[in-house]
Amino acid sequence: GTASDRAFFGHPRGLVGLFFTEAWERFSYYGMRALLLYYMYDQVANGGLGIPDDTAKSLVAVYGSATYMAAILGGWVSDRLLGDRRATLVGGVLIMVGHICLALPAGAGALFASMVFIAGGTGLLKPTISASVGDLYAPNDPRRDSGFSIYYMGISVGAVAAPLVVGTVGQTYDYHLGFGIAAVGMALGLAVYLWTQRHLSEAGSRPKNPLRLSEVSRSRASLVGLGVACLVAVVAVSAVTGLLSIGATVNLISVLAMALPVVYFTVMLRSKRTTAAERARLRGYIPLFVAAVFFWVIQEQGATVIAQYADESTDLDAFGFTIPASWFQSVGSFVLIVLTPLFALLWLRLDRSPRAPSTAHKFGFALAIAGVSYLVLVLPASQGGLSSPLWLVGSLALVTIGEMCLSPIGLSATTRLAPAAFATQTMGLWLTAGAAGQGIAAQLVKFYEPDSAGTYFGAVGAGTVVLGLVLFALSPLLRRQTEAADSLVDHHE
Ligand code: GLN
Repeated sequence: GTASDRAFFGHPRGLVGLFFTEAWERFSYYGMRALLLYYMYDQVANGGLGIPDDTAKSLVAVYGSATYMAAILGGWVSDRLLGDRRATLVGGVLIMVGHICLALPAGAGALFASMVFIAGGTGLLKPTISASVGDLYAPNDPRRDSGFSIYYMGISVGAVAAPLVVGTVGQTYDYHLGFGIAAVGMALGLAVYLWTQRHLSEAGSRPKNPLRLSEVSRSRASLVGLGVACLVAVVAVSAVTGLLSIGATVNLISVLAMALPVVYFTVMLRSKRTTAAERARLRGYIPLFVAAVFFWVIQEQGATVIAQYADESTDLDAFGFTIPASWFQSVGSFVLIVLTPLFALLWLRLDRSPRAPSTAHKFGFALAIAGVSYLVLVLPASQGGLSSPLWLVGSLALVTIGEMCLSPIGLSATTRLAPAAFATQTMGLWLTAGAAGQGIAAQLVKFYEPDSAGTYFGAVGAGTVVLGLVLFALSPLLRRQTEAADSLVDHHE
């Protein structure tokens, strides 16, 4: 990509292919996710798995968590072994296989198999395709932020259509047929990618920091091998002896999801391959990352607590026909598509003004409004009976305004500050914010009871508003830190 390539709304031609590939991949992911909770807790007689709803919500959360945790592994595989393009392709194939597992009427076994395929595949595809967007722009290209906003629209186009198609078919006809449509969506995404990848930057055709065999000492390789073998043995033995119950698995994934970013930040900060300037930038990124974690705690509950609220506590017949509960998972993306052009104008004006909001300001606002989106549900949830669907629509619209201030900006900032040796892995790191958020949510959702929903929304919402305000108050300090980091020159110590 060069500054002269302005084929797609003033952006490089490669963005078109990435836009539609990711739209179809997200269509498959969010289509599956719109059905997942209902498929798990629905009775066996209705084609569901009959899992208790607490367990089902936690499972949906850790499913999502595992998916984004795998992005670290996928990022490593791309940076060191495959390069972005091959990793995206392999990832897409694995995802498709995962949806095919769910399309077969094969019960809980197929569900767990799908989780392995979809987590592994998304771990490869998601960070690499986002890094490919970043590679379309030169380091100082001013179009980078708006490029990511356009790309995020692609995500939202897939995410808005998925519940309407996959959700409706799955909820009204047959769950497996719904999951099958998700598989077809991923196949279309792969086709688009194969057809358009020639427009991508050359940077993605090779690993950015290839692993050299000479670098891998025998002892280190055998140590890693031994570690993996032990882990597999422990999991296998626990599964066979029944020690690894679903509850224990949920807790294990929650803990891993919270620990992983900590470990990864430490590795990157301490690596010899990270320059002093890169290290300073990375440190300034940590508070933003923490804010993102708590934002996703709320936003990702759209597929768990909010999905249950839609199904059980909302008057789905309010408008003269029965709204499929899965449709509420389209609301956020719909709002995002409608408001993105407005926000593009808003950023253009604000970013030029002398009082331009910093990234920390935007993230603090995002967090606070996510908290408010829960607070508005306190009233309808405390009244008992079924509440109007409009409450949920309003709440989802609010959290989406937050998403616009956080998610595309986070992606763009990540590609800009990623240490060169960790290019795609840093994108993986950004995605682990979603993993940690859902790992926390997997524990939180256990406290949700339809009878005390008002208390749940009040407590979680208020806590999040406070966190947002704290970040907002800290942002001048963080801005000075970033400016100090930017004044450092990249050189290895
Ligand atoms: N909703 C966004 C996507 O699917 C971001 C998800 C996340 O980072 N947790 O791409």
